[in-house]
Amino acid sequence: MAAQPPQPHITILPSPGLGHVTPLLELANHLVTHHSFKVSFLLYPSDSSTASDQLCRPATLPSDLHIIDLPPPDFSNIAVDDNDFVSHPPIPPVCTLIIDHPVTVLVVDMFFIDAIDVANELSIPTYLFFTSSTNLLAFSFYFPTLDQELNGDFSDLQMINIPGCKGMPVTDMFDILFDRRVLPMITRFAEVAGILVNTWEELEPITLHAMRENPFFVQRPPATATPPVYTVGPVIKMNEPVTETTHRCLTWLDKQPQNSVVYVSFGSGGTLSSEQIIELAWGLELSKQRFIWVVRRPIDSNASATYFGGDGENNPVEYLPEGFLGRTKEVGLVVPSWGPQVAVLSHLSTGGFLSHCGWNSVLESIPNGVPMIAWPLYAEQGMNSWFLVEDIGVAVRAVGAEQRSVMRREEVARVVRMVVEGEEGKVTRCRTIELQQSAKRALDCGGSSSLSLSQVAQSWKTQPKN
Ligand code: UDP
Repeated sequence: MAAQPPQPHITILPSPGLGHVTPLLELANHLVTHHSFKVSFLLYPSDSSTASDQLCRPATLPSDLHIIDLPPPDFSNIAVDDNDFVSHPPIPPVCTLIIDHPVTVLVVDMFFIDAIDVANELSIPTYLFFTSSTNLLAFSFYFPTLDQELNGDFSDLQMINIPGCKGMPVTDMFDILFDRRVLPMITRFAEVAGILVNTWEELEPITLHAMRENPFFVQRPPATATPPVYTVGPVIKMNEPVTETTHRCLTWLDKQPQNSVVYVSFGSGGTLSSEQIIELAWGLELSKQRFIWVVRRPIDSNASATYFGGDGENNPVEYLPEGFLGRTKEVGLVVPSWGPQVAVLSHLSTGGFLSHCGWNSVLESIPNGVPMIAWPLYAEQGMNSWFLVEDIGVAVRAVGAEQRSVMRREEVARVVRMVVEGEEGKVTRCRTIELQQSAKRALDCGGSSSLSLSQVAQSWKTQPKN
C-alpha cells in the first residue's frame, strides 16, 4: 500500500490585538476543517477582558489546530498613543518553534512581516494575511512612491490618488497613515509569496482590479513586485462565547421590533473622552431610538487606550450623565466593557451599528445586512469610513468624526435617527443587503473567496517539504 503523504503543517503568526487574532484564528480553523492542514497558531498572552480572552482561546478546537503560547511581549519600549500606534512588539522566537515542528508555509500578520527572514533561512514560503481592506493594502504599496515624489508635507495634499483606484480625500485619512515609520514594514509586503486579503471581490472590485492590472502594480522591479492577491473573506468569527452578557443582550433584543436597535461599539480598543461620552449619552437619549451601547471608561488622552487590554474596573454610573440609565432603561441596554458583537449584529432586531469602522466590524456588519454610522477614531478607520460612506454607500457619516472634534449630542441624535428611520438610512440598508448577498455568494461553495482559498491551499499542499 502506498504511504500517505505527510500532512502539511502551517504556522500562523498573528500580531497582538483582537482585530488581528480573531480573523487569523478563523482562518486557522477553516484550513484545518476544510483543507485538512495541521496548524500551529502562535499566540501572545492577553490581559483583556475574560470575554475577549475566550475569543482568542476557544474552549474547543479541532484536534489539528494547536495554540502555542508565546512568552509575554516586551512592551517596555513601546508607547501606545495615537501617533505611536504603528509600534508593535518585536517578532517572537518563531525560529526555534519552526525548527522543532517543521512547517510547509508560514502565514504572518502585517506587523510581524519581519518573520519572513526566519522563513527564508529555512526555505519556507511566507504568505501575508492582510486583516484590513484592499484599499489599505494598495495604499501600502503606493506610500513609498508617494513619499519619494512628494516635496513637502502630506497635509499639503488634497487627494490620495493611488493608480487605478478611486481618489481619497486626505481629510478623511488620519495622520497615522502617513507615518513614515511604517515604511520599512510595508515595503517588505512585496517579499511574500502571496497576500490573502480579508475581503471579497464584489466589495472592492476597483482596487482589486488595479492591484492586478494597473501598470503601477504589475510593472514593478522584482524587488518591489506586487505578490498575487487572493480574496478570502469575509473571514469573521462565527461563534461568541456564551456569557451572561450574551444572554442578557439576546433576551433583550428578542423583545424589540425588527431593525429597531442601534448597536454602539468602538471595537476592542476604542475609548472616548469624558466629554464625548456625555455627549454620546445625551445624543442617544435625544434620538429616542433603541440602543445597545458597549461602554468603556472614558480616557481623555488617547482614542486607542485599551487596544492591548486594560479596561479595568468599569462602573458606567460613575461617568454617564446622572439619571441616564434610569431614563433610558425602557429603550436601551448599557453593557460595560465588552459586548457579544456578532451575536448582536446577527439578531433581527438590530437595525444599525454606530461603529469606529475597524475592518472586522465592517466585515461583521455587512454580511449581517446592518447599515453603519461611521465614527472613526484612529489608525486606518478614517479610510474605512470614507470607503463605507462615499464609495459603497453602506454607512452614514457622523459629521465631525474625521476632525477628531467632540461630536455634539444633536449630531449623534441626527445620525442615529437617520439610520433607523430616515430616508438615507433606507437607501443605506438596501445597499448593505445587496452586499450582504454578495458576501454570501463569495463564501458559498464555488464562490470567489471559497475558490481563492482552495487555490492557495492546493498550492500549499504541493509545496516541497523543507
Ligand atoms: N468585539 C466584540 N465585542 C466588543 C468589542 C469588539 O466582540 O465589545 C470584537 C468585534 O466583533 C471584532 C473585534 O472585536 O471582531 C474588533 O475588531 P475591529 O477590526 O473592528 O476593531 P479593532 O478592535 O481592531 O480596532
